[in-house]
Amino acid sequence: MINVTKSFLPDKEEYIGYINQIWDSVHLTNNGPLLQRLERELRDYTGAEHLYVCGNGTVVLEIALKALEVTGDVITTPFSYCATSNSIIWNNCVPVFVDIDPDTFNIDPELIEAAITPQTTAILATHVYGNPCDVDKIAAIAERHGLKVIYDAAHAFGVKYRGKSLFLNGDISTCSLHATKVFHSVEGGLIITSHPELDHNLQLLRAFGHKGDDHYFYAGINGKNSEFHAAMGLCNLPHVPSIIEYRRQVFSWYDNELDWDYFKKPRLADELEYNYSYYPIVFESEQALLHAQKELLAMGIGCRRYFHPSLNTLSFVPKFFSCPVSEDIAGRVLALPLFVGLEKPDVLRISTTLNRVVRPAVS
Ligand SMILES: *Cc1c(COP(=O)(O)O)cnc(C)c1O
Repeated sequence: MINVTKSFLPDKEEYIGYINQIWDSVHLTNNGPLLQRLERELRDYTGAEHLYVCGNGTVVLEIALKALEVTGDVITTPFSYCATSNSIIWNNCVPVFVDIDPDTFNIDPELIEAAITPQTTAILATHVYGNPCDVDKIAAIAERHGLKVIYDAAHAFGVKYRGKSLFLNGDISTCSLHATKVFHSVEGGLIITSHPELDHNLQLLRAFGHKGDDHYFYAGINGKNSEFHAAMGLCNLPHVPSIIEYRRQVFSWYDNELDWDYFKKPRLADELEYNYSYYPIVFESEQALLHAQKELLAMGIGCRRYFHPSLNTLSFVPKFFSCPVSEDIAGRVLALPLFVGLEKPDVLRISTTLNRVVRPAVS
């Protein structure tokens, strides 16, 4: 079976080397030496001075909302993973869904201002598939209306925009280090801020909001990560350039093989050093997508409807907002297999099948 993704694993001996260090230190979690080392290496890698490693890519969204004291309405994208809008709901805020740009699938900045109410305090946007949002327009809107900006950069590890880490935009950016992402620590998350004064709060919020056993500052949460997870991150980080390079190759194979008369891809930003995190294609109809997905599955090839459904349509969102572009794209987009080790003949088989399914039958 070929799945849409396959986790990268480092050399086992190298991982065991770190495990031996953990046995020696008997420091298993609580801001241990490996976690601190991973944070230092990630600060060097990203150029982000104020960066912390946490438990996962969802708890960092929750911590970001708390750290910025976000309340009321939060403008967000319907085209993301459910963690984005669920974190807003968990903070007792209302996700106000603003439709996406039909070319980039990122939140459409032209629609944001019309959605701002007196209750709006923040914008939480996702860099979809690691492709940058229109960060300039969003920053200008936030400035005009006094709003906080959080980027869910879960897909954006390794992405550089205009020569700098994409993580350096907004008041806070978050990332996921989940096993399915480009760079992972099995489970893990990053929180990055450009505001040094938030540093202290982020560290407190991820560790129950207290320092020592006497000083309680916040109703914090357990957003910590363990030495075992940090060890996996330390093993994987040096491989990131070769991981991205392999993914770039798979991209070019699909790019060359698929029949672009029948598929569409999101348009990537200019001045981008991309991480090739996902390979989504948009079919002409949902029916064509379902047909292709079924044919591929019969060949032992799993694809993922990512993202589907559009988050504004979920039954538990407190308020419904119509987002026709997102609903349309979510119905027709399919992420194709993409991982280190996926071989060219498999990409050719997948592409041939997809082309055959969508091309009109010759009579
Ligand atoms: C993966 C992902 C998350 C959640 O990350 P976890 O580490 O699984 O909690 C959040 N947002 C987006 C856009 C994601 O893709």
